[in-house]
Amino acid sequence: MKRKYIFIVGGVMSSVGKGVTAASLGALLTGKGLRVTAVKADPYINVDAGTMNPTEHGEVFVTNDGDETDQDMGNYERFLDTELTATNYMTTGRVYLTVIERERNLAYGGKCVEVVPHIPEEIIRRIENAARVNKADITIVEIGGTVGEYQNLLFLEAAREMKLRHPADVVFVLVSYLPIPANIGEMKTKPTQYASRTLNSTGIQADFIVCRSERPLDTPRRNKLATFCGITPEAVISAPDMPSIYEVPLLLEDDGLGEKILKKFGMRGRGSDMKPWRAFVKKIHDAKRSVKIAVVGKYFSTGDFTLADSYISVIESVKHAAWHHDRRPELTWVDAAVYEKQPARVKDLLNYDGVLVPGGFGGRGIDGIIRAIRFVREHNIPYLGLCYGMQLACVELARNVAKLRGAHTVEIEPKTPHPIIIVNPYQQENIAHHRYGGTMRLGAYPCRLTPGTRAHAAYGVDVISERHRHRYEFNNEYRAALEKAGLVFSGEYTKKPLVEIVELRNHPWFVGVQFHPEFKSRPLRPHPLFREFIRAAVKRA
Ligand code: GLN
Repeated sequence: MKRKYIFIVGGVMSSVGKGVTAASLGALLTGKGLRVTAVKADPYINVDAGTMNPTEHGEVFVTNDGDETDQDMGNYERFLDTELTATNYMTTGRVYLTVIERERNLAYGGKCVEVVPHIPEEIIRRIENAARVNKADITIVEIGGTVGEYQNLLFLEAAREMKLRHPADVVFVLVSYLPIPANIGEMKTKPTQYASRTLNSTGIQADFIVCRSERPLDTPRRNKLATFCGITPEAVISAPDMPSIYEVPLLLEDDGLGEKILKKFGMRGRGSDMKPWRAFVKKIHDAKRSVKIAVVGKYFSTGDFTLADSYISVIESVKHAAWHHDRRPELTWVDAAVYEKQPARVKDLLNYDGVLVPGGFGGRGIDGIIRAIRFVREHNIPYLGLCYGMQLACVELARNVAKLRGAHTVEIEPKTPHPIIIVNPYQQENIAHHRYGGTMRLGAYPCRLTPGTRAHAAYGVDVISERHRHRYEFNNEYRAALEKAGLVFSGEYTKKPLVEIVELRNHPWFVGVQFHPEFKSRPLRPHPLFREFIRAAVKRA
């Protein structure tokens, strides 16, 4: 059996759910017993997503091997229940970098190195490599951006060439948007017709069109799209808005998209088992009582930015855990800056069942966050601190319990008399030389858990592996002082004395982790720390 490729391209506009469609297709093909992997091709010149502002680009998703990638990679991991690597992610910058480095090494043997064919050639090499490394029957390749842009043309050209070489092994899915203008109240197909034709102008004919809209597609419009876009009505897939993204695989399965694609490939699935997924979606529907979680951070409201994109893995992890406990997750974003201007407002946190402080960088809102952490510590509110949320919890305890005046992280206060959070010598070099790209402590590291701790009880094993993305670390010189203040060091890197997990002794549930557990939560398998955090929150509720 030859390896097959499904290209997902977007039409009409961005943010219509191309990533979720790609991931959902992956979920349902995986459910048919096939080995599926997914590749994201990002049009940016940035070599990785690590140097992009999450408020503009969305979350930076970190893989086990320490690649800083696009948030869509998180959806692939969650929906396919798999772990991806740097081979599954590329940007325009990364592709060009390889070609230019190769040229510098004389690897093109004196040829003129040109955009075409050399750039699409490198893109194809990367796609085929991802398929091979992941031993995939089917590789889903999501091309970032929308058809009709300059930015993703070379990715489309690579896809066209792959289809030309292996017509039976490549399928194109156009994910498009059908607006229902409020003044007309009628679903319009014309933008999608244009998108399909724009795709044609790059030499690509869509095999399937997934029609995203507020409402389901009706028969007249299905037929119209089929005629104008040159496909059969069965190849036009209705994909209305769903209450939860986790329903999309079932929606596509019920429309038979998986079977239709396999038929195009001349393949047969090994049955279909979406039973666990269906049970999970039922659990989502059945969860009536809520669990209220406040996410306290430094938030801003600029342009199109949505918090949901910057913290998508954190949000999904809370949801997975809440549904596991048959609760409806109720998330509230709390801007820590409020507690700086109106310190008394911090008591509003009593209205929540749990408080979470996610990762972050820089000084904005820090005093407000520290005030919030103090409040949840003193009022026995369950707390989960992720990365910065762990570092600041240590600073808070140092200041207010260990009475170390002026304690801080050197990220914010380089001259603090009590540097609780410091920067490693190797990181000092990076900072001094402005080597910021891909130089944080990144990717999976093994961590040994201390028996008898909440962390150990949650994981139920002695050694875990979790993904990191930070430059700063806990300062071991303050271990004894903070231990005396009530802190328990419950996890340490197996190869060096680096603090990875802390928790409070006299508190219902207060845990801070230097890593990012949110990258490893799965819909059907919530992350142990989120699961136990929500358990404590439910208990409080
Ligand atoms: N700013 C902190 C550091 O670099 C925390 C990073 C994070 O939360 N991801 O160490």
